Amino acid sequence: MPTALVVGGGVAGPAVAMFLARAGWEVRVVEAAPTPGRHGGAFLNVASNGLDVLAQLGLRDALVADGHRAGRMVMLSGRGRELGVVPNGPAGDLARGGVIVRRAHLHAVLRDGAARAGIPIEDGVRVTGIRSSTDAAIATLADGRELHADVLIGADGIGSLTRTWIDPGAPAPTYTGLVGLGGFARVPGLAPTHETRVMVFGARAFFGYLVRDDGTALWFANLTRPEPDRRALAAIPSDRWLADLAELHRDDPFPVPDLVASTVGPVSAHPIHALPHVPHWYRDRVVALGDAVHATSPSAGQGASLALEDAITLARALRDAPDHGAAFAAFERMRRPRVERIVGYARAVDRNKRVTRSRLGIAVRDAMLPRFLGRAMEDHRNDDLYEFRVDWNAKGVPVG
Ligand SMILES: Cc1cc2nc3c(=O)[nH]c(=O)nc-3n(C[C@H](O)[C@H](O)[C@H](O)COP(=O)(O)OP(=O)(O)OC[C@H]3O[C@@H](n4cnc5c(N)ncnc54)[C@H](O)[C@@H]3O)c2cc1C
Repeated sequence: MPTALVVGGGVAGPAVAMFLARAGWEVRVVEAAPTPGRHGGAFLNVASNGLDVLAQLGLRDALVADGHRAGRMVMLSGRGRELGVVPNGPAGDLARGGVIVRRAHLHAVLRDGAARAGIPIEDGVRVTGIRSSTDAAIATLADGRELHADVLIGADGIGSLTRTWIDPGAPAPTYTGLVGLGGFARVPGLAPTHETRVMVFGARAFFGYLVRDDGTALWFANLTRPEPDRRALAAIPSDRWLADLAELHRDDPFPVPDLVASTVGPVSAHPIHALPHVPHWYRDRVVALGDAVHATSPSAGQGASLALEDAITLARALRDAPDHGAAFAAFERMRRPRVERIVGYARAVDRNKRVTRSRLGIAVRDAMLPRFLGRAMEDHRNDDLYEFRVDWNAKGVPVG
């Protein structure tokens, strides 16, 4: 039986492990974080392409059961004027819109699925070294142990050790100029935003929110800031963020200031990075996928979905290619053009989110956006973002 060691128990890791186990591989997943569910970011969008992969794992219904369907995004100006409505899925097909879930819920669904498939996810196990010999990939762990497998799959996220082992000269992620904040709130009387999330080009910062059927609101804000030190950022208490946000959004339309004022629980804060082009995705018996080789800023709402697409594509290539080298090459060939295009798309969205301070800049943006967004709900140009599908039951190395 072929064996795989998966480094990282985030999104891509458990997914690729489940597909490989289905193909008859013996798989082990190691995760550095000591406690399951302690993953940064409050919530995220899983788009129809990601939902399709979850459906093929038999996990879609479990995810959607605690999600907020949001097939459209309503864009508002800082004065509350509607600038346009944009599909969060294939145009004209609300039923295939994205679903917003708490990140912890996505992790729980994936981990439950892995547990049911008999795949151990070992928490608190950090890989600190990697090497590859003619017949095995070998990981050294922080506790000094070594794990051997036929292939090592790096699903270790944006700070990937695997990426650096594959290519010590691999580019580092670039800072987008935005810090992402997220939280949960409850504003009495605020109606649920059925099928919708709302995006506000606020006077001083970008803000997004939705209200679930149970009245819980999920919000995020993007602040234009110089690149912060991660530790310093993590040390900022929630109260300080809320005070900053209250100031930044004081002139923005209802319910933005109210959501800030009614926030319950901690505010999560992340510098937002992107990784547009990593020249090498594999070397010898080691391959990387997901954010490790193509991180996109959250603006496309696609990072988790792309990680899931990678997982099914890589597993099918390993199942059907004659050897791991051919599988890795097919995986990269199929995935690279798509993921690099989506990272570029997210970058373009980020440019619109960065705050323009001048009144003229705001006036021009508010005048131009309705022209671009006027017929967005019927505009099929972005449909291919959501239409990707690899069929697990088809045979043969997947081709693009
Ligand atoms: C604020 C924020 C908001 C986002 N919003 C969205 C959104 O709305 N929609 C969307 O699709 N995406 C969103 N994303 C992106 C999305 O979270 C990522 O694209 C997705 O999680 C990538 O999955 P992954 O499995 O590749 O990496 P991750 O989910 O980051 O998982 C990597 C895992 O590897 C582990 N690890 C790292 N190094 C080691 C090691 N040496 N040994 C063992 N384990 C290790 C980490 O602890 C982590 O659990 C957002 C990201 C952020 C930061």
